[in-house]
Amino acid sequence: MRIYTSQNDPIDFCGECAPDSDEAEQLYANLGDGPDGRGNCYGYDDDHPSYEGEGYRCSKCGVELKDDD
Ligand SMILES: [Zn+2]
Repeated sequence: MRIYTSQNDPIDFCGECAPDSDEAEQLYANLGDGPDGRGNCYGYDDDHPSYEGEGYRCSKCGVELKDDD
């Protein structure tokens, strides 16, 4: 799953490391606004590109991500 921080940085997690929405909000929702006047870009469980076979890794444990992550 993917979270966008309030600064519009994507962070990807495997199923095991994915924070729940409360935890994610505390960590990522109030880091400041995104670039180009876009305001707060925070998003929980947002759309992401296909992970499978693309070399995306969990930002926490580093495992390679699959499409059901
Ligand atoms: Zn992980």
